[in-house]
Amino acid sequence: MKEIVEVAVGLPVFKTFHYRIPEKMRESLQVGMRVLVPFKGRKVTGFTIDLSDQPPKGVEEKLREVEGLLDEAPLIDSPMLRLYRWISDYYLYPLGEVIKTGLPPGLQLKSELILSLTQNGMESLARGGLELIQEKVFKEIGRCGKVSLKKILKHFLGVSKSQLFSWKRKGLLNIDAGIEGKEVKPKFEKVVQYQGDELIQPISKKQAEILKWIKEKGEVSYSELSKRFKSPSKPIQFLRTKGLLSFSRREVCRDLSVRAELKPYPKPEPTSDQDAMLSEILKGIHSKRFSPFLIHGVTGSGKTEIYLRAIEEVLVQGQEAIVLVPEISLTPQLLSRFKDRFGENLALLHSGLGRGERYDQWRRIWRGDVKIAMGARSAIFAPFKNVGIIIVDEEHDPSYKQEEKLKYHARDVAVVRAKQAEATLLLGSATPSLESFYNAEKGKFKLLNLPERIEGKPLPKVEVVDMKKEGGLLSEKLKAALKKNIEDKKQSLLFLNRRGFANFILCPDCGLTFKCPNCSVTLTYHLGDRSLQCHYCDYRIQAPGDCPKCQGHRLQGMGIGTERLEQEIRTLFPETQVGRMDHDTTSRRRSHLQILKRLESGSIDILVGTQMIVKGHDFPNVTFVGVVSADTSLHFPDFRSSERTFQLLTQVAGRAGRGEVFGEVVIQTFNPDHYSILRAKDHDYVGFYQEEIQFRKALEYPPFSRFINFRLAGNSEKRTKAMAEEMGNNGQALLKKGYGKGIEILGPSAAPFAKMRGKFRWQMLAKGKNPPLLHQFAKGLATRMEVQLREKGVHLDIDVDPVFIL
Ligand SMILES: [Zn+2]
Ligand SMILES: [Zn+2]
Repeated sequence: MKEIVEVAVGLPVFKTFHYRIPEKMRESLQVGMRVLVPFKGRKVTGFTIDLSDQPPKGVEEKLREVEGLLDEAPLIDSPMLRLYRWISDYYLYPLGEVIKTGLPPGLQLKSELILSLTQNGMESLARGGLELIQEKVFKEIGRCGKVSLKKILKHFLGVSKSQLFSWKRKGLLNIDAGIEGKEVKPKFEKVVQYQGDELIQPISKKQAEILKWIKEKGEVSYSELSKRFKSPSKPIQFLRTKGLLSFSRREVCRDLSVRAELKPYPKPEPTSDQDAMLSEILKGIHSKRFSPFLIHGVTGSGKTEIYLRAIEEVLVQGQEAIVLVPEISLTPQLLSRFKDRFGENLALLHSGLGRGERYDQWRRIWRGDVKIAMGARSAIFAPFKNVGIIIVDEEHDPSYKQEEKLKYHARDVAVVRAKQAEATLLLGSATPSLESFYNAEKGKFKLLNLPERIEGKPLPKVEVVDMKKEGGLLSEKLKAALKKNIEDKKQSLLFLNRRGFANFILCPDCGLTFKCPNCSVTLTYHLGDRSLQCHYCDYRIQAPGDCPKCQGHRLQGMGIGTERLEQEIRTLFPETQVGRMDHDTTSRRRSHLQILKRLESGSIDILVGTQMIVKGHDFPNVTFVGVVSADTSLHFPDFRSSERTFQLLTQVAGRAGRGEVFGEVVIQTFNPDHYSILRAKDHDYVGFYQEEIQFRKALEYPPFSRFINFRLAGNSEKRTKAMAEEMGNNGQALLKKGYGKGIEILGPSAAPFAKMRGKFRWQMLAKGKNPPLLHQFAKGLATRMEVQLREKGVHLDIDVDPVFIL
């Protein structure tokens, strides 16, 4: 039996640690279980990643014992552990933290400091004469028996940690390490089961009715029972004592807040294009080998039906399916179609669910109750044991990249998981990412095309309007098109990728603008509550009437947002029903679905919105789409801005004309000759790709090189800058040592938004063609800087650019 366990703790440390397994745990401890281990004076949760007979050399004496075993069965099996190890290595992120990302929140146990009164302390409290604040704190501790230190500090603002410790030194308080009890537990309900009906004694009419009903159902929950019968307690207690019923508990699945509520979608016959494509995919599924496909299908070409049928086949094979969609809460239509086809055999994983709901969904997968998991990026960690297919819908979508903490790209992790599991991989998009199309070009993915919309519906006609020749917000062409669409009783979408009323407020007398004190951005004006808001942090103030600097009366809103656009449309077309969909109107739960339902039922004529309206909705009566400004994304300081613009324009244009009537699109721009706009106008993805890939090649940008971005953030401007310079020097020193051939360092320089949420930000970019060398360099640099950074209180984030090429 193994005596030593290797543990990855759920903390930001790169190393893993070894512990001795106490005698009593040796039989039950397995790889993939959570353990409680001592770590730097605390108890922390760790994940068992290996078991061995011998401790590693040189640490025998220092080994401490595992303190607790938290699971009765492994949460992670060895294929998942292999995937987590790959992620940790590729994204340069501690293994324990990676595993934590993959598990539902609520499984974390953390030790914390717990306060209780000593005998001495209780006596002092009883005697009285303590300082007022001390008395209050002691009373609270006395009342609860045990209270966490965190809670006391939060409750009593006048008390400090050092004060509490001084009371401990005086022998008035105990301060011990304890366990936080916040773990989410499965929820149980009481159920009543039918046992038999050999009637020995006569029973009442009500009792007979209840017994008959339970007999029909076999097993009913107590809550169902009390809905059906008035006060059923007494009768069922009686029936139980007679041995006709029995009671037990069963685990319940907390209700999901996302349900299919839109109109059911009939199962369509596949077109010949779809049939041809499916037969290719089925070959992959039957081969039980890694079979990666890139489906390039124009908007409205029927990709979803391909997904559904491929999954049906995977289920027949006795395997499981993972479906990734961008921000699932935004696409109730897709969810409806999956629910219609697969019913309860589907678990949902996404951040819109509550903690308990998410935990339950995860457990349904883990226990094998469902065969399909669908969700946003974290669904890639669904704990299936035998995955047959992984589908990434809208694979180009930027929301697959997590921008905080572990900066993984869910599409890339999907590629790796499918490869490790020998599964079929479907990446689908009307506008594939450059890297995926490049992979297809190189033969790494098999390219499948759906060049036509189903039923031969034409793609919409797109017109580009040069705004240099127009005055005002809306061009004559766009206004005329809206007017005509209203007269024809059709619906329109207006896309503007900026929310709020005015972009910023300016005093024309003294030039004052309002800046966020925490971020290097201007505040956006919101008319609804007359506030100035920062869209990056929570900062918000009441908008002033006059200029606070020169007392001028002429404060002006500059630039437009969706709120102002909505107002403008209402003024132009007062008889029309106008709706708005953006972050401000959808922050309440389900409000997003409400807006879509109103659009579906025809009670909105014109819907104004940000990129939320771009996501894969399908409304047959929408025949006109207007892009108010195509330039917002074009000027973003990122080498992917052209690609992003092309994708957005193509996707938003694709919302038009999905029904019987021909669709039309008007794009307003100050850059009418830009290839992103011209190619989107012609629905020419391949043309766009060829132009963009030339540009990337010329500048040696991804996919022709790899980027790793080192981001520094700190509270002190001076120290953060100093650390950035130090990192630059260290980087150069590593290169001089011949650490990474062909690696180029760009920067360090202040980040594009030099201050964000109160933190000063610097960055340095390493560019290289050889990924293993680049990773080695990044690891070396991070290790060199680790201690200094911690001392100076500057945080380093390593961001590996999502160009994963097989
Ligand atoms: Zn002023
Ligand atoms: Zn801010």
